[in-house]
Amino acid sequence: MAANPSLVMRIVSASVAVSNRASNIIRNVLTKGDLGIIEKGKNDLQTEADRSAQRCIVASLHKQFPNVAIFGEEQLDPQEKIPKDFIELGFDEEVLKQSCPEYLKETKPEDVVIWVDPLDGTAEFTQGFLDHVTVLIGISVKGNAVAGVIHQPWFNYEKPGFPLGRCIWGVIGLGSFGFERETPPANKIIVTTSRSHSDRMVTEAVEACNPDEVVRVGGAGHKVLILIEGKVHAYVFASKGCKKWDTCAPEAILHSVGGTLTDFHGIRMNYGAEVQRKNTGGVLATVSNHQHFLGCIPEHIRDCMDRSSEAPPLDFMGVTICGGADLEGAKKDDTPTLDKSPTPNEDTDGKDAKQDNAPVPDKIHTPNGAPGSTPSSDDNPSDSVPNNNATTKL
Ligand code: AMP
Ligand code: MG
Ligand code: MG
Repeated sequence: MAANPSLVMRIVSASVAVSNRASNIIRNVLTKGDLGIIEKGKNDLQTEADRSAQRCIVASLHKQFPNVAIFGEEQLDPQEKIPKDFIELGFDEEVLKQSCPEYLKETKPEDVVIWVDPLDGTAEFTQGFLDHVTVLIGISVKGNAVAGVIHQPWFNYEKPGFPLGRCIWGVIGLGSFGFERETPPANKIIVTTSRSHSDRMVTEAVEACNPDEVVRVGGAGHKVLILIEGKVHAYVFASKGCKKWDTCAPEAILHSVGGTLTDFHGIRMNYGAEVQRKNTGGVLATVSNHQHFLGCIPEHIRDCMDRSSEAPPLDFMGVTICGGADLEGAKKDDTPTLDKSPTPNEDTDGKDAKQDNAPVPDKIHTPNGAPGSTPSSDDNPSDSVPNNNATTKL
């Protein structure tokens, strides 16, 4: 164990431990069979697994870190009694063996906000696409997403004999752990997007990237996992439907391996306690060539997306974030070119460009023969007022 682990490393370590517990709770709900589905809004479901996992994560982290703000997705009764076996007070030793990056060493509890999505990919969970489900715990410091945990409870569920579930965690400046990094294919462009919250604009933005293949899967966490595993080149979501708890952990993990997650204006989002919960600027995530994909987005779509509140400047003490992408330059570049052999950690402007007028695939496929997308629910009322339900500013 590193001597005197810092607050951030202790939070990451506790988050890994509690994500393991939450993952067990989620699997147990499915085993028992009664999902207790509630419709929170249009095309927005909650199940007993979402509720129980959030109770476990928020109550456990609050017990360990009483002076840190924790925001959970679900609106739950704060008076509710939490079962004893939902409380996880352990630390993951592997995390504590790592040293804290210099810029995070002096972090104080009041600098930290933890964003919890107890179950990302609820629609897919209710439909049996179990490997789309993740538990997300994102850690922000002074408004910057810096560390995260993505737990996938049903990783390997279709491979008998292989260990079920996995936990991926990362810290910007340290790196990410728990998965095998691969480079995406060099000879084609693969884009991922929503399968259950799509609409015309979401599809148009994807098609504007001239993909050879489109992978429609559930969950922001799952989509960033397939990005860092090299299965896709970009996650493109021209919608205001994703929230801060969907992107905080994935963003930190992606940035820790040299990728980039921004809104459609190339802005790195603010994860401070006062920000609006919705990502109304859309979500664009890449392992490399971020500027190229930003430049592919048509002006009229960019204009429909808000400019997000930007992450406040943080002294990363020499650590490069956003894969070194020149986001300002990207916004001015309206004639994008793409090196078709994207390399992790590089934002190249290669000349082997995919033709701007290259044929767009006429059919967007949904893996596993899943039913197609459903209409957008982007007309949900804006929740720009902080959601104080499951939010625990303690
Ligand atoms: P998806 O890619 O559709 O799985 O969405 C990623 C995350 O954003 C999930 O947590 C969704 O619930 C959430 N999300 C995206 N769009 C919407 C929407 N229109 N309404 C509610 N939640 C959404
Ligand atoms: Mg979610
Ligand atoms: Mg959720």
